[in-house]
Amino acid sequence: MKINTVCGKIDENDFGIILPHEHICCYFEPYLNMAGKHYLDKEKLLKASVGFLKEMKKKYSLDAIIDCTATNIGRDLELLKKVSEQSGVKIICSTGFYFTDEPMTTRHSSEYMESQILYDIDQHSIGSLKFAVEAEKMTDNNKHLLEVMCQVQKKTNLPLCLHTNPEVNNCIEVLEFVLDRKVAPGAITIGHCSDSEDMGYVSDILSSGCYVGFDRIYRMDDAQYYKKKADDIAELCRKGYQKKILLSHDALIFHGFRDKSVISQFCPFDVIFERLVPELYEKGLSKDMVSAMMSENPLNMLCLR
Ligand SMILES: [Zn+2]
Repeated sequence: MKINTVCGKIDENDFGIILPHEHICCYFEPYLNMAGKHYLDKEKLLKASVGFLKEMKKKYSLDAIIDCTATNIGRDLELLKKVSEQSGVKIICSTGFYFTDEPMTTRHSSEYMESQILYDIDQHSIGSLKFAVEAEKMTDNNKHLLEVMCQVQKKTNLPLCLHTNPEVNNCIEVLEFVLDRKVAPGAITIGHCSDSEDMGYVSDILSSGCYVGFDRIYRMDDAQYYKKKADDIAELCRKGYQKKILLSHDALIFHGFRDKSVISQFCPFDVIFERLVPELYEKGLSKDMVSAMMSENPLNMLCLR
């Protein structure tokens, strides 16, 4: 099978280690229009991103990332393409929406939106669908947009990555909404489950056959944090779910959500390799299991297996 990347279609056999939920940048387009380089210097971002990814490729054999940036928070195809070409790391780009209820998304019909997204996928070699729900209960517009994403998923057979919020336990409501619209479980990732403390809740999600994202592994000084995350992953593996866990950082090189939106001066994608993986070995996971988790699992997710 061929995977859509920002540099065109690439055979699935050519993929190695994949980080399935990262961001080169999330930014607010109106600020860029207003302040230009004062807000975001794209040349500087390109240089920093290429430097990071080259280092990741050399140090940890990183082969690909899925950039999960939604179209309304600064998805930047041109930039991603340059980053991929210059770093040699494959980038799979997403289409879809963040949870913000913007007028331009509330007022358009499902048919109109669907046609825009299908055009995007076709013209821009998009490899992943993204949708975010943050609130405890889905808003009417969340439902309107997610319905569109479900129809697009069934027409394109691209994987659907869902940002959910375990702090308000909305994962199962979102999962059920998507399953009710006959999206295959193998096409669904319930993202940000690593923010949950309750592995019973995460197991309930996994029992549907979908993937779960352990995709917010944060940069922390606290050694206990990595031990706890490794414990949670080991528990899910003991229950037989090791093929459905996706490991990633949800890191950004340009973090437009923060007040001081600066281009990171440190490598934001490395704590899984540096800190989590050694803890997984401590918990008794074999090298083969961990390596499969970081290459086969995200590839199978991309191929809807
Ligand atoms: Zn993200």
